[in-house]
Amino acid sequence: MTTQDIHKNPFPRKNPPIYIGRFAPTPSGALHFGSLVTALGSYLDAKAHKGRWLLRIEDIDRNRSQRQAITTIYHQLETLQLHWDGKIRLQSQHLNDYAHALTQLQPHLYYCTCSRKYWQPTAPQGALGAIYPRHCQNQKTPPPQQNSAIRLSLPFQTAHFYDRLLGAQQFTFQKDLGDPILRRRDGDIAYALAVVVDDALQHITHIVRGQDLLAITVLQNHLQTLLNLPRPTYLHLPLALTPDRQKLSKQNHAPP
Ligand code: GLU
Ligand code: ZN
Repeated sequence: MTTQDIHKNPFPRKNPPIYIGRFAPTPSGALHFGSLVTALGSYLDAKAHKGRWLLRIEDIDRNRSQRQAITTIYHQLETLQLHWDGKIRLQSQHLNDYAHALTQLQPHLYYCTCSRKYWQPTAPQGALGAIYPRHCQNQKTPPPQQNSAIRLSLPFQTAHFYDRLLGAQQFTFQKDLGDPILRRRDGDIAYALAVVVDDALQHITHIVRGQDLLAITVLQNHLQTLLNLPRPTYLHLPLALTPDRQKLSKQNHAPP
């Protein structure tokens, strides 16, 4: 190899940083106090490790994302002097990356045409909501004349990970999560898949985010294994709650 060949490397990384963190808000509205706790937590952890702190806008959900909110988020972060490193990644500009990942998962996917209204009322509750009862688990080809969601078949196993703040964690796929939707009926890719692809493409090494995403970590780890992607480390911060112990959100009118 000549020196010229070295310079052709599309990913030149002299002294690669050992810490790359990120803040990844969904632009469903302006940042509220709860999202700022996550922003500040991930920012400070990156700075404490002399790492980089990237900004990713998770605007893949067309129903929830608002153009205006994206600009507002930039202003809010700049006002608070939470300056991000490098280029911002907008998920809506990388749909091909997620579609490609979905094709790689093909052997583990099935098509689901069930309407939530039929199975949810009787389904057991998991850590993130009702557990889908796998009616469609054998539907390996798209059913004709019907839009269907695509689900990932999860194993009947318990999965573990280590949280830097909370210590050892364990969740059982079918009891706590159930087979998740990776592509919705309207064609949109689900957050859980997009986030895994992005964390890998942005070389994220450390994830700091809210505890509402604790259980979904085992799903993301599972996707990383299936897609042969590296696994970052995780730290889940306590959530800012309202006086009646609800998570702050746009739904309960958390002010910007
Ligand atoms: N976009 C997600 C949210 O706003 C966060 C994703 C993550 O940090 O992994 O809740
Ligand atoms: Zn189904």
